[in-house]
Amino acid sequence: MRIGIDLDGVVYDLMTPWLRRYNERYEDTLTREDIIDFNFEGVEFRCDVGDFMSFLYDGRIHLEAEPVPMAVEVITEWASEGHTIVFISATKRPAIWAKVARLAVDFPDVPYELHFTSDKAAVEVDVFIDDHVRNVLDYALLGVNPDAVVLLFDQPWNHDDEIYQAYDVNIGRVLGWDTMREALPSGRITRQQRLDYY
Ligand SMILES: [Mg+2]
Repeated sequence: MRIGIDLDGVVYDLMTPWLRRYNERYEDTLTREDIIDFNFEGVEFRCDVGDFMSFLYDGRIHLEAEPVPMAVEVITEWASEGHTIVFISATKRPAIWAKVARLAVDFPDVPYELHFTSDKAAVEVDVFIDDHVRNVLDYALLGVNPDAVVLLFDQPWNHDDEIYQAYDVNIGRVLGWDTMREALPSGRITRQQRLDYY
């Protein structure tokens, strides 16, 4: 199988170093659980959202981001089982180079495809995993492979299930990489059975 995997919020915990920078600069105490929307609506920052976003631009927090627990182990395992790992990220320069560097360090023995694109639905995969509701909706409704299994990786900023339920598409929600390891690729998740996997 070709397994498409988003990087930020799925393989790497970008939010923790991002908030660390912000909290230091603005003397605040925000945590990941305070980030209840992907576009930061409803989040009370002590600065403009644009200033918060600016921490992303130099790529340093990408270098500081730790892998999400079990992500490296499970992906490495899938690769050794013969699956094709397809990393798909919307990252822009210069953070792209930080990502390339991190993947080389964290996945030294894994052959992988790497796509930097905001049009993730155009990448052909059999399984699509992302933490952004918009991206999973895109793939479920418009993806180049209409039979792909589409999974939302649980994060505090994607709990507004009504958004995708309103479109009447089945998108599985997975709580973490240990859940993912059990469910994929053992065949427990299928196109016909895309329910929630808590
Ligand atoms: Mg993401």
